[in-house]
Amino acid sequence: READDSIMAHRHAFTRCGVRISVCSNIDFKEEIEHLDATGSEGVGLFRTENLFLDDLKPPKEAAQQEYYRAMAEMLTPKPLVIRLFDIGGDKLIYSPVKEPNPNLGWRGVRILIDVPEILDTQLQAVIKANIHGNIDVLIPMISSIEEVMHIKQAIEKHYDHIKSLGHEPLEKPGIGAMIEMPAAVELIDEITRIVDFVSIGTNDLTQYTLAVDRNNLIVQDLFEKFHPAIIRQLHRVITTAQRNRCRVSICGDMGSDPLAAPYLIGCGLREFSIVSSDIPALKATVGKYTVEECEALAAECLKLSGSSAIKARLEAFVKAH
Ligand code: PEP
Ligand code: MG
Repeated sequence: READDSIMAHRHAFTRCGVRISVCSNIDFKEEIEHLDATGSEGVGLFRTENLFLDDLKPPKEAAQQEYYRAMAEMLTPKPLVIRLFDIGGDKLIYSPVKEPNPNLGWRGVRILIDVPEILDTQLQAVIKANIHGNIDVLIPMISSIEEVMHIKQAIEKHYDHIKSLGHEPLEKPGIGAMIEMPAAVELIDEITRIVDFVSIGTNDLTQYTLAVDRNNLIVQDLFEKFHPAIIRQLHRVITTAQRNRCRVSICGDMGSDPLAAPYLIGCGLREFSIVSSDIPALKATVGKYTVEECEALAAECLKLSGSSAIKARLEAFVKAH
């Protein structure tokens, strides 16, 4: 297995029919970048910046953030670095000064970024100044409206123009992406994919909010069903709509690591995955077993099924047959 992993690490992933599938890493700390090459990762598809928050709930200073992001971009270049803006609140670091009755439906993600401009401005300035190699993209967490996307997009433009006018070294404007992790974002996917450079599907939160099942509540864990027909259909809609609008689309939720999900996602048209690095060799090996045509037929069949067990059984039969 180890020998197989090391061979896979140095190969790009292709389907059996030769279609290229890119596989990046989800990371929480800069130090993880050192290990990316060994797993065959093609870059960072999701960097969860909330880990940079300090113990006393103060956001890190701009200079410290800039140095941190710049070091990451430097280590990675020319590979991509997708920096997700602070996704605080909810099940993550609780920032709210009041005890919220239901933090997952409360003050979190982009809502905090919009309400507390110091946090947003500091992070955007740091990210823009760190983009000296042009390999940084910005990802916005917990999007549920077009106004939220526009707010962050305009803030990026404003800071970029200002920083450029100060005569900083030549800097490229970071690309801008939206997390698709709320049912509202799925409903708005046509509009969202017309105004961003890319979208990234967060199946962890998308499953939680679509099925009203707390992702961390053990009592209802059996109901946290990523192969629920509602999720399966949303994924198809997001991927195909993004492609129709020529907007890049990737998955960064844990579902991307699941060997049962991979042929379905490829069948929907997905070509970019971002997953935990340790799962990359296995995903690359999985991808090589199927042709796109087989995956498309599988996806069409799954989309007709109306029960999670039937969908799972179909995916299991497909994987077993290869
Ligand atoms: C997700 O929600 O699927 C996701 C990738 O983000 P996080 O797990 O950090 O909420
Ligand atoms: Mg999320």
